[in-house]
Amino acid sequence: MSSAREAHTEYMREWRAANREKVVDINRRYREANREKVAEAKRRWARENPEKAAAMKAAWRIANKEKVAADLRRWHETNPDKVHAARAQYKAAHPEKRAEQRWARRARLQGALVNDFTQSQWEWLKAVYRRCCAYCGTATAQLTKDHIIPLARGGSHSINNIIPACHHCNEVKHVSAPPPFQMAMTGLYS
Ligand SMILES: [Zn+2]
Repeated sequence: MSSAREAHTEYMREWRAANREKVVDINRRYREANREKVAEAKRRWARENPEKAAAMKAAWRIANKEKVAADLRRWHETNPDKVHAARAQYKAAHPEKRAEQRWARRARLQGALVNDFTQSQWEWLKAVYRRCCAYCGTATAQLTKDHIIPLARGGSHSINNIIPACHHCNEVKHVSAPPPFQMAMTGLYS
C-alpha cells in the first residue's frame, strides 16, 4: 500500500521535474481561475507560519528592492496626508530618535567625523555616573553631554568621547582631565 503511494509520489516528482513549463502553466491557470481561494490560502498560511511569512516577505523585498522603492515613492506621492500622519505618529512614539537625530545633526555641523552616539548609550552613561556630573559630582537632572575632545578639534560624537557634565562644568572649560573611568574607556588611561 504505502510502497504504491511512494511510487506514485516518486512518479509525480519525476513528471514535474520533466515538465517544468507545463507545471508552471497549470499553476498559473489555476491561480487565475481561483484568485480568491488562492489569496485566502496564502493569508491562512501566513497566519499559521508568521515567522516563515515574515522571512519570505523580507527576502522578496530584498530581491525586488527597486520595485519596493518605486512603489513606496508612488504611495508617498499619492498619500501625502497619510505620510504626514505616519511621521507624526512615529515621532511621538520615538522621542529618543528625535533627540538622537538632533545631536547627530549638531555634531555633523560641528565637524565630528564619528557620529554614532545613541540615546540608550546616553542613558547608560548617566546611570554609570549615578546621574551626577562626572567632574564635580553634583547630582542633577540637567546633565549635558560634554565632549572630552571638542568636536571642533576632531573629537567624535560617540560614547568614548562623551561624558555627563553639569551645565557649569560643561560651560567652564577649565576642566582639563576627564575622570579615570572615562579615561579608561577612551584608552587615555591604563
Ligand atoms: Zn559639574
